[in-house]
Amino acid sequence: MKKRLLMTLAVAVVAATGCRSFILETVMTTVEPYFHGPGIDGTQFEQVSDKAYTFRWNWYRNLIIVTDAGLVVIDPMNTEMATALKHELDRKFPDKKIHTLIYSHYHLDHTRGGAALAPLEVIAHEKCATYWKDFEHRDVLEPTRVITGDTTLDIGGVEIRALYLGLSHTDTLYAFHVPSEKLVFTADLGLVRSVAPVGVPDRYAPGYLAALNRVAALDFDIFVPSHFGYGTKHDLTDWRDMLEDGRQLARAALRNTGSLGTRERQMARYFDTVYYPMRAKYGSWHGFNEMFILNLVRDLEGEMLGH
Ligand SMILES: [Zn+2]
Repeated sequence: MKKRLLMTLAVAVVAATGCRSFILETVMTTVEPYFHGPGIDGTQFEQVSDKAYTFRWNWYRNLIIVTDAGLVVIDPMNTEMATALKHELDRKFPDKKIHTLIYSHYHLDHTRGGAALAPLEVIAHEKCATYWKDFEHRDVLEPTRVITGDTTLDIGGVEIRALYLGLSHTDTLYAFHVPSEKLVFTADLGLVRSVAPVGVPDRYAPGYLAALNRVAALDFDIFVPSHFGYGTKHDLTDWRDMLEDGRQLARAALRNTGSLGTRERQMARYFDTVYYPMRAKYGSWHGFNEMFILNLVRDLEGEMLGH
């Protein structure tokens, strides 16, 4: 009896191990190329306009503005990225200190590591702290000033308009418009010819579309998003259209096929309705195949639940 039990256990362990490697392999080969590869891995510091620079650290990107009072950085992301950026800034601007660090929203993958930049002032939406307190956030540098609603900042002679975007990607999200540079920086709101990652986590779809439309109505040429490459205003409007196409097709799929769990092979029916039209328009974008299922599931559940 004991021998039989041991054999059953051994078979179960082998099956479980085999299963784990199959699942892991599937995830690694489908999702990994979205986050890693040539042009994504490593760091790059670039000038994008007269006074604005951008620093890429792997798939993350932030914005630096040079002013008469010192440097402004939007989003430190994490200690490793902030330390690498500080090294670049000390080399490129030896006479300038970091005057202001601004958090685009509370998310911890955007707000850790600010101490490495040693800023004089730290600005965040007033509600950020109410979320941070629920998580481990020792490496989030506390704001010295909180803001609510649209706020125009004048730092060292450069006007930076912080636009409050309401419930969109959290309810602490700002976009940043620098009129003198004809530039907009957004965090987790738009990409350049890259599909959304994992349906854009923490997204309220109607508010998110309203936020994209509000930013698209601004007067600017250069669009710097917080992930992957930067581009033009046209890239932002294309991205908005891509996201909205996906949502409208998911809505049509539910209308034609019924809600989840009511028919056989329902996921395949949803897939057929959404995949082919999306591939025709956006199949060449970075991450289309890798993220398709995750984005489809997000759009379907968003339409079913209303978020
Ligand atoms: Zn975020």
